[in-house]
Amino acid sequence: MKRSARVRSLRGSATLAVTARAKALRAEGRDVIGFGAGEPDFDTPDFVKQAAVDSLHAGHTKYAPTPGTTDLREAIAKRMREHNRIDCKAEHVVVTVGAKHAAYEVMQCLVDPGDEVVIITPAWLSYRPMIELAGGIVVECAAPIKQGFKTNPDALRAAMTDRTVAVIVNSPCNPTGVCYSRDELTALAMVIAEHPTATLISDEIYEDLVYAEISTDAVAFSPGSIPELAERTVTLNGLSKSMAMTGWRIGWAVAPGDGGEVAKAMTRLQSQMTSGIATFLMPAAAKAVEHQSETSGAMRSVFVARARLVSELLGEIDRFKTVPPSGAFYAFPDISSCFGLVSPAGRRIDSAATFAEAILEEKEVAVVPGEDFGEIARDHIRLSFACNEDQIRAGLGRISDWVGSLS
Ligand code: PMP
Ligand code: GLU
Repeated sequence: MKRSARVRSLRGSATLAVTARAKALRAEGRDVIGFGAGEPDFDTPDFVKQAAVDSLHAGHTKYAPTPGTTDLREAIAKRMREHNRIDCKAEHVVVTVGAKHAAYEVMQCLVDPGDEVVIITPAWLSYRPMIELAGGIVVECAAPIKQGFKTNPDALRAAMTDRTVAVIVNSPCNPTGVCYSRDELTALAMVIAEHPTATLISDEIYEDLVYAEISTDAVAFSPGSIPELAERTVTLNGLSKSMAMTGWRIGWAVAPGDGGEVAKAMTRLQSQMTSGIATFLMPAAAKAVEHQSETSGAMRSVFVARARLVSELLGEIDRFKTVPPSGAFYAFPDISSCFGLVSPAGRRIDSAATFAEAILEEKEVAVVPGEDFGEIARDHIRLSFACNEDQIRAGLGRISDWVGSLS
């Protein structure tokens, strides 16, 4: 059967693939420690589950408006105004099947073939395929480990051209766990403001998971609140990470600029694609959004302790170089000093992919290889510490032993 060129060259998500592989090995009875999934190990709060059950019983089982019910869009717009200081109305909000779907739709709505989109790498591995599926050209603005995984205004300016239609900023960052300070984000935003046709896409899915206890840069700040950029920022967010609701698939984009034209375009696109999210989830999502800050606060404190533990244990592995994470639940060590070495089972380690494969087979630890996070991410692996402290200690113990046994 014929397949389009578009899908022939498309790689599936490596993060989802590693997660699925770890689950499959566990189902076979193997004792796999999973640092793969970018998925909190907490359960969804009971009040949100109850709201969904009540909503089903109340008969919310028919089609709902494509961009979400008015109640849900109002709840999101209220949070965006009060918490994120983004001047928006409900009509600027489009509710999507996870923030992933929001990001995909935004690319489809902003990018024409040949347009350039700048990503700051290491970057979440779904941005590149989303841009390319829209016909866009990915421009990587490198933020290497020696710069603490951060770019700066000069580097961003150099990456932008008159063909740049968008820049994606993601703080706290997947996969590095690094946060930009308010001043740093403002300075980057002002570079984008110099290009009158460029849109800032701010992916704030980890906004509630910032650890000011670890770094003073770790703040939740929305560049869409900066007056010069307010009209040209699309903010992405969702309930997956902050509210431990990955399986519910609820995200959104807020696009107040241009008289709400981007939100309208996303709605038209979505009306031909998925329609709205499941109707009975919408009242539960509204409840979750209303209580997002206080509910995610409890999970945040657990993640701070885990972030500290991961940094401490990674710091003890001499062959790794690391930047301590101060947000999200990721660490992204440079493992290149293991390249050229051979494992106890005779596997030669010459890339992040071979490292990840070998350690899963030999030590039953799942990590995500860096390659798909960008050109400069090839020397790294991603560890997601969305698992408990015992698992973190055991998993990093296995990694440390195994790395020490490479020769
Ligand atoms: N953005 C980033 C940076 C992510 O890490 C993820 C992955 N979970 C998403 C967006 C999408 O999340 P979801 O679709 O679960 O809302
Ligand atoms: N975004 C999460 C991660 O990076 C979940 C998997 C995915 O959607 O790619 O692990």
